Amino acid sequence: MSKNTDLIIFGASGDLANRKLFPALYRLHHAGLLEDNVRILALARRAQTSREFVSQLENTLQNVMLAEGLDKGSWKSFSRRLHFLKVDFTNKRDFKDLQHWLVKKRTVIYYFATPPSLYGPISSHLNGAGCIDSQTRIVLEKPIGHDLKSSQEVNDVVGKYFNEKNIYRIDHYLGKETVQNLLALRFANRVIHSQWDNTCIDHVQITAAETVGIEGRWSYYDSVGQLRDMVQNHLLQLLCMVAMEPPNSLEAGEIRGEKVKLMRALRPINIDSVLQDAVRGQYDAGWINGEPVVGYLEEEGRDSGKSNTETFVALKAYVDNWRWAGVPFYLRTGKRMGKKVTRVIITYKESPHTIFSGGQDGARNRLVIRLQPNEGIELEMVSKKQSLEEPLGIERRILNLDFLGDSASVRIADAYERLFLEVINGNQWLFVSREEIEASWKWCDELLSAWREKNVEVKSYGAGSWGPPKAEILIERDGRSWYEGGA
Ligand code: NDP
Repeated sequence: MSKNTDLIIFGASGDLANRKLFPALYRLHHAGLLEDNVRILALARRAQTSREFVSQLENTLQNVMLAEGLDKGSWKSFSRRLHFLKVDFTNKRDFKDLQHWLVKKRTVIYYFATPPSLYGPISSHLNGAGCIDSQTRIVLEKPIGHDLKSSQEVNDVVGKYFNEKNIYRIDHYLGKETVQNLLALRFANRVIHSQWDNTCIDHVQITAAETVGIEGRWSYYDSVGQLRDMVQNHLLQLLCMVAMEPPNSLEAGEIRGEKVKLMRALRPINIDSVLQDAVRGQYDAGWINGEPVVGYLEEEGRDSGKSNTETFVALKAYVDNWRWAGVPFYLRTGKRMGKKVTRVIITYKESPHTIFSGGQDGARNRLVIRLQPNEGIELEMVSKKQSLEEPLGIERRILNLDFLGDSASVRIADAYERLFLEVINGNQWLFVSREEIEASWKWCDELLSAWREKNVEVKSYGAGSWGPPKAEILIERDGRSWYEGGA
């Protein structure tokens, strides 16, 4: 049972708030999961009344949630929770209005859905206006810095005002059902966890492919690139959930501690290995879903016709510990790729000796963990072909561990719904600790600096493809190939 809670959203007029945060809160309310004692205060710098804000938000959500629609009764009761206050986040005087709005003895959660450059000023103004006590929580969105040093600066400035136990750093991948299901799959199934190591697993692939380009964010994206935008956070978090040791319990400190250990065991990709183990790409013009699209250098908002920023990364990584010695982890992520998919593929080793026709590869197991589309998990098993003509033939069969089962009416919650509930309940297990962020930046910094030192140029790839040919070579050199099957 949560206490009386005030959820205060900085940046309530922004894209994240409109597309993700308010829809998630509405859905929780509609499902009866948001307790009556939760109030929501939206902060933005445009002057409007609470009533005007609510009416504008209703229109926005009607568009954003077109497929599911808004229930009239639920919206009406939800809107009673909503309040609006005009605050310029750089103006400390405006924070006095916020301080007047707050009521003592309620748990306060500040959600920073703003550019990260405002995290420091907002924290300082909240403190100056007396809006923080020892229980006040904050939620921070990515990116936390663009390298180790800048992430430490962000963590330091926020840490001046908030205790680490009250800081909730979002990586929305951790809010996904399938990612949490990885814990159940690995640690509640003896048959899986006893096979989860280098004696049984041949290699792991993690792919996060997007069909979108940079969506009008050229100036932001060009200073960031795909390694910082996707690998430093989402892909490394996925890798941790796949590869970390069993935590002692589901307590946040235990899980986060195991993830930090895993990140520290990641072998650096440095100037000696970077040319072999890392590929950078940038998309050219091409076709996505039958439509022509421009190349990265022709995107709207570009400031020059040149850029060495990667929109695609493929990596071969190793975890230097007992469990994973010798098992490669192939990571791949890119914009403007042929399909929108996020998945983890665990390929098991071949049987030591096959007595069946059809070759060794036919007798391998594979675990396919899909984050999108169609969140779910499948285990590829090998089974005898039902055939009188071919008495000892084998074939692959899919064991479907689908969440939805037979019921198409079960809805998989959006990651932000789960994450809101965890923040409200004061549980950090699905949020990223300072140590994790800094360990992942340390690893990425070494790779970025190796690219710089070796003057590694991006390789071009056609929009709609799976990245530059070098990404294929990266894995084929080892006698393996990227998994392209399934939805
Ligand atoms: P937007 O630029 O769309 O929104 C930023 C918000 O901050 C707006 O509401 C803006 O108000 C407000 N703001 C900026 N400066 C001030 C100020 N001085 N005073 C008051 N309000 C101010 O960004 P996003 O919503 O896309 O992103 C927010 C955060 O979430 C960023 O850290 C981003 O990296 C992160 N994020 C976003 C994702 C997304 O899908 N959008 C995904 C993952 C992370 P105004 O409208 O008046 O300009």
